[in-house]
Amino acid sequence: MSNPQRGDGTRCVHAGSAPAVPGVPLGPQPVLAAPYHLAHYADGSDFYGRASNPTWRALESALGSLDGGESVAYSSGMAAISSLLRTVLGAGDTVVLPSDGYYLARSYVREHMSALGLDVREVPTAGPWSPDLVRGARLVLLETPSNPGLDVCDIAEITEWAHAEGALVAVDNTTATPLGQVPIELGADFTVASDTKAVAGHSDVVLGHITAADADWAARLRAERTASGAVPGPFEAWLAHRGLGTLDLRLSRQAENAAAVYRALREHPAVTGLRWPGAAADPAHPIAARQMRRFGGVITFTLHNAPAVEAFLSRSTLIASATSFGGLHTSADRRARWGDAVSPGLLRLSCGCEDPEDLVADIRKAL
Ligand SMILES: *Cc1c(COP(=O)(O)O)cnc(C)c1O
Repeated sequence: MSNPQRGDGTRCVHAGSAPAVPGVPLGPQPVLAAPYHLAHYADGSDFYGRASNPTWRALESALGSLDGGESVAYSSGMAAISSLLRTVLGAGDTVVLPSDGYYLARSYVREHMSALGLDVREVPTAGPWSPDLVRGARLVLLETPSNPGLDVCDIAEITEWAHAEGALVAVDNTTATPLGQVPIELGADFTVASDTKAVAGHSDVVLGHITAADADWAARLRAERTASGAVPGPFEAWLAHRGLGTLDLRLSRQAENAAAVYRALREHPAVTGLRWPGAAADPAHPIAARQMRRFGGVITFTLHNAPAVEAFLSRSTLIASATSFGGLHTSADRRARWGDAVSPGLLRLSCGCEDPEDLVADIRKAL
């Protein structure tokens, strides 16, 4: 069987790159501009920094080529998700949201879109799914693997049911990354993601994007972005594009670390609820193996209680206590502290790019 990851390194390094021109740098450069010099008559060139920017276009071209559609970059993952919701949903529409996905997507709909009188239907990612759950919906937002529980759902099957109802499907692909899963190839209409996580990958950028399968939707989203002003800074877009070049390398090391940590935690008496969709024994593995191209470095497990987590983290020398994932540094987040409806001892561990031997030794010592 051919390696599904083959070509990922080349695609990441060259995604969104410009033709070779003598005297021009190899990579894209940040263009920091508010107004641009104007032509005498509108000629489609850049005129103002909220409407367009060449550094965004380079990043969007890279992400679009990996996601299989047309990308629109935003100032954060939530800027992308909220822009999608505002653009797609109208008064009285039905929206299906993951009950166990990123919590702000739900609270944005409930607290900031309440005037639309939406019918909000929350469904756990692991289902059980049926056509009834998407009946009459305008938009179905999936998040697979879900954050933080790492459950998965069958994108192709749910999309088929949703499309039969005339619903649009968006997949939050933050945890999977564009190398791990291509929702648009599985039939979805939109991929949304927080590029703050693995895509930028160095814990120094907040950014997001939507990729639309359909160019008309991309144009509508871009118009909404210009009007709402949820635009990325050019410097952040440039940093994310720079980070994207090593996504394949970083994900490979992170997945290697996750597999090693999973093996070490599997037999440990202090650990319960160990989850990693990449493990053959994980309940999410059958669907994940079917629709994902590779697995990342995020695993979830549960220790006895909150003090046990605090003791574990304070004894570790390599794990940063931090609330993000997908970065170079291994980090861990006790999700209950943010109000996720999970056990107080549940920890989301994001394996970084350290050496597997060092990481496993540190975790054994800390446990
Ligand atoms: C972090 C995250 C978001 C929000 O992204 P920001 O860049 O922090 O706004 C959305 N969805 C998922 C799955 C996330 O992990």
